[in-house]
Amino acid sequence: MGEKDSGYCGIRTGDKNSLRLDGRSRARVSCYYDPLPTNCVADWVCPGGTGAGYPVYANDCGTEVGFYNLAVFFEGCNFNCLYCQNWSFKRSGLSKGTWRSVDSLVDEVNDETSCVCFFGGDPTPQLPYALRVSEEMRRRHPDRILRICWETNLSMNPAWLKPMARLSLESGGCVKADLKAWDPHIHEALCGCDNRQVLENFACLAEWVPLRPEPPLLVASTLLVPGYVGEEEVYKIASFIASLNPDIPYALLAFTPQFCLEDFPTTSRDQAAACLKVAKEAGLRRVRLGNRHFIH
Ligand code: SF4
Ligand code: SF4
Repeated sequence: MGEKDSGYCGIRTGDKNSLRLDGRSRARVSCYYDPLPTNCVADWVCPGGTGAGYPVYANDCGTEVGFYNLAVFFEGCNFNCLYCQNWSFKRSGLSKGTWRSVDSLVDEVNDETSCVCFFGGDPTPQLPYALRVSEEMRRRHPDRILRICWETNLSMNPAWLKPMARLSLESGGCVKADLKAWDPHIHEALCGCDNRQVLENFACLAEWVPLRPEPPLLVASTLLVPGYVGEEEVYKIASFIASLNPDIPYALLAFTPQFCLEDFPTTSRDQAAACLKVAKEAGLRRVRLGNRHFIH
């Protein structure tokens, strides 16, 4: 990308000085190598899973077999979802993470690493550290494919959103935004907070999508929580996404009982089919159902 101001939400695509980091230099993290294709929420559209963007952003014109995603799991989150699928870090004695310096995490990139995914928990509370790590990874490996991706509740301050998205934009990575509900009351009931910042950030990122249409910079997902997130919620979320850009990929994820919602049923086959239908009717062109193995 060039050095000029893109005009999209004020991002300067090549401006490294836009990154004003605080002094945080370590985080509680566990990381592992995931062979591609992974079960990543964006694997149906991303370079690692499909070869999209080959040869600039992918090592192969199909699935990048033989390469790995470095999965970076942060033990922290600013939400408190009742169905948290990664809740173990919230219980003392179940933590698998260790304190890692920036350098020690950057050293994890090896010759087979083609993408890095920051997730957790959520990267939001650890963004100063994560940005420092990903900038350094890219600096140390300037002439190879090394995509930077984020799987997030997207609730960060927009000042952090911009450098984070710039790294994905320039590296061929993506931002995987979990849009948990449309109604702010449902969002608050499920996650402990409203979704105003999430939706504002999503709209901001959608403006950047034309800067690199393929592979997609922004991918959305929604967990189909029985009794809370069904056709009505999905239709409203999908309409919102379609109003921004109908080509933004949207993954609906089947629910399985866990954490505080252990007594809930799984997403039914009928509900999943109905939600897929309304997401398409809302105008989205790229919709899919993930976690199909949870549906009985
Ligand atoms: S981390 Fe990014 S590039 Fe790698 S499999 Fe996931 S979405 Fe694709
Ligand atoms: S945003 Fe994700 S990690 Fe955080 S509480 Fe919710 S489900 Fe768990």
